[in-house]
Order: sequence, then structure tokens, then C-alpha cells
Amino acid sequence: MAKIGFIGLGNMGAPMARNLIKAGHEVQVFDLNQHVVSQLAEEGATACKNAVDVTVDAQFVISMLPAAKHVQQLYLGENGLIECLSQDTLVIDCSTIDAASAKHVGETLESKGISFVDAPVSGGVAGAAAGTLTFIVGGDDAHFEAVKPILENMGKNIFHAGAMGAGQVAKICNNMLLSILMAGTSEAIQMGINHGLDPKVLSDIMLSSSGRNWTLELYNPCPGVIDSVPSSNNYEPGFMVDLMAKDLGLAMEAAQHSGSATPLGALSKNLYTLLQNQGAGKQDFSSIFTLFEKK
Ligand code: NAD
Repeated sequence: MAKIGFIGLGNMGAPMARNLIKAGHEVQVFDLNQHVVSQLAEEGATACKNAVDVTVDAQFVISMLPAAKHVQQLYLGENGLIECLSQDTLVIDCSTIDAASAKHVGETLESKGISFVDAPVSGGVAGAAAGTLTFIVGGDDAHFEAVKPILENMGKNIFHAGAMGAGQVAKICNNMLLSILMAGTSEAIQMGINHGLDPKVLSDIMLSSSGRNWTLELYNPCPGVIDSVPSSNNYEPGFMVDLMAKDLGLAMEAAQHSGSATPLGALSKNLYTLLQNQGAGKQDFSSIFTLFEKK
């Protein structure tokens, strides 16, 4: 069993840390939100007062933070963890951030002998709770082999995408596609409703037809079709519109850097920005369904 530091106990981080505790690891946790730190402590974690305490004797430090600025600040900012991490610690950043920032943080840590992989995830809050996440790892072979058994406590599929930063590129390709599928599924169901179809029946038909996709199967955006998904719970996240809009910004940067044509990704980014501008930033991203509603 390993001693693991975990920083960032939000919608994703808390259930991920819980699975490490269940697997028998010694987990020391920190979040700016003290309430969730206390909750995890009741479930067997060691509560830490700050991020530095999390690193003490840790073989692995895992971070699950909102965006690149938080990751940069945590590791490289004022009083950053780079000053206190030991060369025996392997850092695993699971946040979704741009590949350039991941490489910058990783290379700066590695220049001090501290090992790093980027390991963003897919599978949502339900996957985090069930321990069935997909991890997409960027880093060298030895580091990948070292982190795999730890990640297997939180996920079902552990992929090695390539060198440092490659995990983030693969993740952003996936999320661009997910945003397009969610928008497309939403407009199709709304059109069906506008013609008097039952959204549950229509969803079942499309699930058995060529329109089948992950959002229809596991995350239907229409309230009442699937119990226990955000759309059936007032679009409580889940995965916030703000985070999807951030990811689409990263996707557009990645497209520009590589000269890739991503017209549907660009349209999707605009749709999610529109949703943000309507005040839905903190709602689940499946609330894009409401954009297509005929009032
Ligand atoms: P969240 O906002 O629910 O959680 C982030 C947590 O980080 C919060 O609890 C916040 O208090 C904490 N935090 C921020 N700065 C901190 C700091 N300096 N020190 C300690 N704690 C700090 O976000 P989330 O939904 O858990 O997403 C986390 C990351 O995972 C994001 O990059 C997101 O894009 C990605 N992601 C989310 C999902 C999803 O379905 N929610 C799925 C895949 C990937």
C-alpha cells in the first residue's frame, strides 16, 4: 500500500480519493474547502491544513484542480510544492489543462529530479464514484508503469498516450467530441419533442439506431429520461458548463497550434459560451439541452 497525497477534492477529486482509501492506501488530503477535507477525514483520510503537509513522505501526489492557473500556482507559484517535494515522490496531475502548461510544470519539476505525469480522466462524476474512470497518461514508460497500479484503484482503463503532455492532447480531442455529441443529441431530442414524440421513446429508438452515443446511453440531457443524471436533478453538476467552455478554449488553442480544421468544435465552443452568458456556467454541461427549447 502507498502513502498518497491528494489535492483538489471537488466533484471528481473527492470520489477518486475515496476509492484510494477503500483500496487501503494511506491518503492525506487538502482542499481550499475545509468542509470536504473534514468529510474525507471521517472516511479514513488524514486531513491536512495546507498543500505542503500533503506532500510529507508521500510516494505519490495527485492533483485534481479546475484549470492550468491552479496547477501552475500549486507547483510553481509562491511557496509552490516544487520547494518541498522529494525526489522520491511521483506527481500525477489529473486536472484537464493545456498540454503546454502540463509540460511546463512537468519539465520544471523534473529539472529538480521530481517525476511527473499528466493523467487527465474521462468518465465523469459517476465514473469517479464507481472507480471506472479512463486515465490518459502522458509521461515516460517507467513513470507510466509506476503510476498504473495506483490509477487502477480509481479507473478501469489506463492508457499511455505518449510523452509528457500527450495525455492532455488526447483528453481535449475527446472533450471536443463529447461537447459536439451533447449539443447534437440535445437538438435531435428537442426536435422530436416539438413533433410530439416522447423523449424516452425517441432516446430508446436512437440508442438502437445509428445515432447511438455516450450522451444518449449514460447522460441523457432531457430531464426524466434517465434517473440519477444531472438533467433529472435540475442540471446540478456533474461537469460544469464553465469547465466544458474552458476545455473547448483549450481545444481551439490546440487546433490553432497544429493547423487543424475544427469547425464543429468552434461552433460548439460558441454554443457553450452562449450558455455561460445566460448564467448557466455552474450548471451541468448537459443543460445545453435548454438552449434548443422552443418557448
Ligand atoms: P471542481 O470545481 O468540482 O473541483 C475543484 C476543486 O479544487 C475544488 O474543490 C476547489 O476548492 C479545489 N481547489 C482549487 N484550487 C485549489 C488549491 N490551490 N488547493 C487546493 N484545492 C484547490 O472541479 P471538478 O469537476 O472536480 O474538475 C476537476 C478537473 O477535472 C477539471 O480540470 C475538470 O476539467 C476535470 N474533469 C472534470 C470532470 C467532471 O465530470 N466533473 C470529468 C473529467 C475531467
